[in-house]
Amino acid sequence: MRDTLKHRGMRNKLAEVVASKGVTDEKVLNAIREIPRHLFLDSGFEAHAYQDKAFPIGAEQTISQPYTVAFQTELLQLKPNHKILEIGTGSGYQTAVLLNLKAKVYTIERQQELFKKTKLFFSKMGYRPKKVIFGDGYKGLEEEAPFDGIIVTAGAPNVPKPLLAQLKIGGRLVIPVGIDEQIMTLYLRKSEKEFEKKELGNFRFVPLLENKN
Ligand code: SAH
Repeated sequence: MRDTLKHRGMRNKLAEVVASKGVTDEKVLNAIREIPRHLFLDSGFEAHAYQDKAFPIGAEQTISQPYTVAFQTELLQLKPNHKILEIGTGSGYQTAVLLNLKAKVYTIERQQELFKKTKLFFSKMGYRPKKVIFGDGYKGLEEEAPFDGIIVTAGAPNVPKPLLAQLKIGGRLVIPVGIDEQIMTLYLRKSEKEFEKKELGNFRFVPLLENKN
């Protein structure tokens, strides 16, 4: 598959749709315009790539809806070189958006099949996250903490404590919290012990799964 002028045109339209739903950050909208989302989908779904919808990516997982990716990214308020932890690598599309905004990205995936596939895809495409890790996102990534931002791309039944603990003072955790439906929740770390919490609307994600072992 290639990236063509036609794809670019479709992406410009997609960015307009995302903007019409309330995303205003030009850098985020620009990432939507630039990243070839059709290459992150299994062939056969290509025609759907530039609709504002989630799609299956195998292993019962989905690539998040572009609006959701843009909304979560906007909430991180990224600056170049921010150190960002992503929980739920999935297709790698959200990772690519973070990289487009010049973040240093550490990303964790618990499905081995997807982990392998997406890691290979990153190297083929020349996307360079700092680390792509097969592991359990509930634990965060202690050895690389603290982070300027943490983004969770699966629905969490509760807020994992290690994620709050691994934020810098001034850092942001963006996490959809809930079981069947999730409330997008933003935690701002004000000091060692204080967090400000904001709830920002309802979304639907595949579940963040706990490791049984
Ligand atoms: N950011 C992805 C969204 C993928 S859906 C994208 O843009 O495509 C959520 C992903 O979270 C799935 O790939 C799922 O396997 C993964 N996931 C679920 N529980 C997890 C956990 N405990 N740790 C890390 N990843 C997890």
